[in-house]
Amino acid sequence: MALLRINALNLVQSREKVEVEAPSKRISDYYGDLVFGKEQMQATLSPEVFKRVVDTIKNRKKIDMETADAVASALKNWSLERGVTHYTHWFQPLTGATAEKHDSFYDPSKGIENFRGSALVQQEPDASSFPNGGIRSTFEARGYTAWDPSSSIFIYGKTLCVPTIFVAYTGEALDYKAPLLKSLEIVDKAAVKVCKLFDRNVTKVDASLGWEQEYFLVDKALFTARPDLVMCGRTVFGHNPARGQQLDDHYFGSIPTRIYDYMKDFEIESHKLGIPLMTRHNEVAPGQYEAAPMYCEANQAADQNQLLKDVMDKVANKHGLKVLFHEKPFAGLNGNGKHNNWSLVTDTGVNLFQPSSSARDNLMFLTFFVTTIKAVHEYSDLLRGSIASAGNDFRLGANEAPPAIISAFIGSTLTKVLDQLETTGDIELAKGENLYMKLGIDQIPEIILDNTDRNRTSPFAFTGNKFEFRAVGSDANVSNPMMILNLIVADQLGAFHKKVTKLMDDGKEKRLAILEVLRGFIKESKAIRFEGDGYSDDWVNEAKKRGLSNVKNTPKSLDFTTNEKAVQLFEKHKIFNKLEIQARHEIKLENYIMKVQVDSRMMGDLVLNHIIPTAISYQNKLIQNATGLTNLGIDASEIKKTIEEVSGHISKIRKLTKEMTEERKRINTIDNAREKAIEYCDNVKEKYFDDLRYSVDKLELLVDDEDWPLVKYRELLFLR
Ligand code: ADP
Ligand code: MG
Repeated sequence: MALLRINALNLVQSREKVEVEAPSKRISDYYGDLVFGKEQMQATLSPEVFKRVVDTIKNRKKIDMETADAVASALKNWSLERGVTHYTHWFQPLTGATAEKHDSFYDPSKGIENFRGSALVQQEPDASSFPNGGIRSTFEARGYTAWDPSSSIFIYGKTLCVPTIFVAYTGEALDYKAPLLKSLEIVDKAAVKVCKLFDRNVTKVDASLGWEQEYFLVDKALFTARPDLVMCGRTVFGHNPARGQQLDDHYFGSIPTRIYDYMKDFEIESHKLGIPLMTRHNEVAPGQYEAAPMYCEANQAADQNQLLKDVMDKVANKHGLKVLFHEKPFAGLNGNGKHNNWSLVTDTGVNLFQPSSSARDNLMFLTFFVTTIKAVHEYSDLLRGSIASAGNDFRLGANEAPPAIISAFIGSTLTKVLDQLETTGDIELAKGENLYMKLGIDQIPEIILDNTDRNRTSPFAFTGNKFEFRAVGSDANVSNPMMILNLIVADQLGAFHKKVTKLMDDGKEKRLAILEVLRGFIKESKAIRFEGDGYSDDWVNEAKKRGLSNVKNTPKSLDFTTNEKAVQLFEKHKIFNKLEIQARHEIKLENYIMKVQVDSRMMGDLVLNHIIPTAISYQNKLIQNATGLTNLGIDASEIKKTIEEVSGHISKIRKLTKEMTEERKRINTIDNAREKAIEYCDNVKEKYFDDLRYSVDKLELLVDDEDWPLVKYRELLFLR
């Protein structure tokens, strides 16, 4: 009966060590070897062409065909020297994965290898299989991919990968990257305008991103023996191991050799691909780990995150491992998140979120800091919507990592500064008097080491010189939440600039005008600031009083991405038109429906084909035993109790599964995606999942261990 499980466990025992050897002792010897970055361009392109490419990237210009031809030719040679035979446009459709369509450099009609600028710049993938939420059917648009020169081209396997956006011929974005790029341009423009109030030398501002990717590792054989892990990426059943997360000795503890070898291996591959991985450590739960790179420009960082997930998956195979990026692979244990560390950096080298020892710079710091808080307050619902997914619903507001309520944590030092700014009345400066001293902002310490800055319960925290958006799901493409963050901050920077300019036009001194606007922002955004425990019930009540939303499920929180406020923002900044907003909404809803549907079907399958038959045969064993005992005149009442218990769970499971299937049938006839998603949430997931699981997990404890068909948590998690 439990053959699959036993075989899998035996396989784990016989695993042999996989030797991992770096190409060289020093990472710097092979770092970026597979990337056609600035250095490679400089080495292979003529100085004029190189200059044009750099200029194109910096000024977000369109590349001309002559330059593209020169780059393509250099790329072809660089690739052929490395044994690369094919190229592909690498893009991020709304499925969440990355997509590729490989073409050969070899041109049979000419008998030579060929790669032209036109093929580098634009391609037409067969896009009919990618989700487009009705855009295509409405416009019968064909999609095309277009080179994004601001992200590095790289070799993956034997293929040259060109990062691209994916758009419809009618202009609608069909991917994650196109809107992210737009948002980067928008926040760049808005931030430069504000910077110029302080420093005229600033001409460009880049958003930086450093993500922290959490994941679980399980043995591949055990993974394969769990149909739910294979199909859903998470376990739909499974009793908590006796030794769970309570033993925090795992955290930052020593990494098991097998895992260490795997980490070393994927780090080597990542370093070749120019992904600057820096830290590796154990996370809170057993079997859970984290990888984080050195931060970089946000678009590049987003691509690196997508690529890393693929690298990790491929390398895991070699080590007989499977990596789980699902937000909640195991009930009762910590879920997987992806912290997004975000900041804005000028082309003069200043991190705009870095407090400084210079009072003048601190006014600039405060401007960006306060405006960001204001943006989070103004658009907290949209931020919530940007991280909604079926997987993340298991984390957000489920009494572990960040709550579903968006709030911002800033630490006690900055709280004091903002409180003081808020309460100072109209400022009159006597001749020679120091404004900054008067405001107390000449003294913001350069390095803010709040001991409270380890407040892990906040979904959006200021951590010294950057903001950390912690509610992002581990499996998410970071482009979407980062796009929203860039956009809302840009929007509020615009509002700030307008207000300051108006006051200055009315004759107010610049610094006083800035302060007046900041003071308004601080007052207006106070409700979003929260320094306490984000998991507590007190906070739920308090947040309600403050008027903050607390929406715990995806279908409802996606409303935030289509409401009037969102539409206005998207249209104002020309990020999305109405059709794109609807299309994206629909894709997200459909994705949600599909995930809950698959989970539910999987539960049904497991119950009918594995759990119930196992429980029944165990029940029969008990019955035999009880009969035997009774025949001998021995008291069998204890065994009878167990039989009753087992029977009880079997009937309950049967009944729930049958009802759940009927509900699915009913809901599947609903046409409206939003309505259907809400029904799936309320009347499938919420109504049945926990109850079903409860009984199955009880049976796991009751049934003879040898008979149990599913690999158990303790076997999956304590990998050594
Ligand atoms: P923790 O686990 O304490 O949250 P880590 O040190 O693991 O922090 O991760 C911090 C992340 O923040 C790293 O990816 C790092 O590159 C990134 N980071 C550091 N400074 C900045 C910055 N100015 N802008 C964006 N990201 C940053
Ligand atoms: Mg973090």
